[in-house]
Amino acid sequence: MTLALQVSPSARRPCGCGNLGAADPAFATPPVDPLTTEEADDLTAMREEEKVARDVYLRLFDRWGLRPFGNISGSEQSHMDMLLVLLNRYDLPDPVRHLDIGAFQSPAMQKLHDNLLARGLQSESEAICVGLFIEELDIADLQRATQRTSKPDIQMVFARLEKGSRNHLRAFHRWMRGLGAHYVPAHLSPTAFDTIAHSSHEPCG
Ligand code: ZN
Ligand code: ZN
Repeated sequence: MTLALQVSPSARRPCGCGNLGAADPAFATPPVDPLTTEEADDLTAMREEEKVARDVYLRLFDRWGLRPFGNISGSEQSHMDMLLVLLNRYDLPDPVRHLDIGAFQSPAMQKLHDNLLARGLQSESEAICVGLFIEELDIADLQRATQRTSKPDIQMVFARLEKGSRNHLRAFHRWMRGLGAHYVPAHLSPTAFDTIAHSSHEPCG
């Protein structure tokens, strides 16, 4: 088993996953159409869901010191940042503004965070399974949200987030096998989950 990332020409370019702005065609001009209620709800919920991922991984890294929780919590911060760019672009309030690590405005997100953290604190194997749970939930929710929008700027951000989540799922899956743990997918079909888990890391960009 190798944990080395594939080296490709694009991997040598600076990672643009967390940088959005005028350089991206989808962001070069102000939005033309207002958000639908569904789009607004999805952007708000995804911003909170990325915070669940970041906060749980920070706590689990603190508890277990396993490398993926350190690396991936930083990536979740960049996912949160991308969603904040969209919330600002469409003048939506930030649902996690001024909230501490582990604190959420929405009772459902608070409960999700608390349950996942409690499970992840039980053992290293449970912690890795929590990582897999969060990543496949993220992928499933992003796929549903992508179906509900035709705006190119939102689609571009969701596509970047989904690619990041696929890479995170692959990383946790390698650790799961290394620890001899077992995980049953809860949000994706077993086929969809396995297809992602057993495919190669996708370069950022
Ligand atoms: Zn994420
Ligand atoms: Zn992730």
